[in-house]
Amino acid sequence: MKNNTSNFHNIRFKTLFSEEMISARVKELGLQIANDYVERNPIFVCILRGGIYFFSDLTKAVPIPIELDFMQAKSYVGTESSGNIELIKDLDSDISGRDVLIVEDIVDTGRTLKFLISHILSKKPKSLEVAALLFKEGGEAVGYPIKYIGWKIGKEFVIGYGLDYDGKFRNLPGVFLYSEE
Ligand code: 5GP
Repeated sequence: MKNNTSNFHNIRFKTLFSEEMISARVKELGLQIANDYVERNPIFVCILRGGIYFFSDLTKAVPIPIELDFMQAKSYVGTESSGNIELIKDLDSDISGRDVLIVEDIVDTGRTLKFLISHILSKKPKSLEVAALLFKEGGEAVGYPIKYIGWKIGKEFVIGYGLDYDGKFRNLPGVFLYSEE
């Protein structure tokens, strides 16, 4: 890494959070979460696809028994009436009476999360909390407390560590600012 940029994909991106920074922060969150969920056998829910790396690293950083499940929602943006969200993949587990933790890559407007939270709550879990690696300014509109946050950021568009631009760059090892040059 040079001058705080990365040459991955032969394109220079400004680093916001390096692989090392993410690894350290995820370990901290993992211990905090483990401490909160001792002897509760929680279900961690990965929100596909952006959440994959955060989910994968976070679940390994939680040294207590947990179960894993996966959900995917698609949001139709690009139309004036955006905000339509459709569930593409539902949970496989029966979560009623269980402690559930949603693991999400980023909360921006909070619309996706709001949809997922209300869907999960309809299944009557014992508790529901959210871990988001990144929380954008304005994400409070979700109207639900996000208990575990990696970092709060501004309104900039970021890529890497699961986050894409047009389907690409998810496999960048850190989080970078996206800019077209
Ligand atoms: P929300 O519904 O909170 O507005 O947006 C949630 C989804 O939008 C995220 O799960 C993510 O897929 C996408 N998103 C929001 N902000 C960004 C960003 O800065 N970069 C990327 N790559 N995706 C984003």
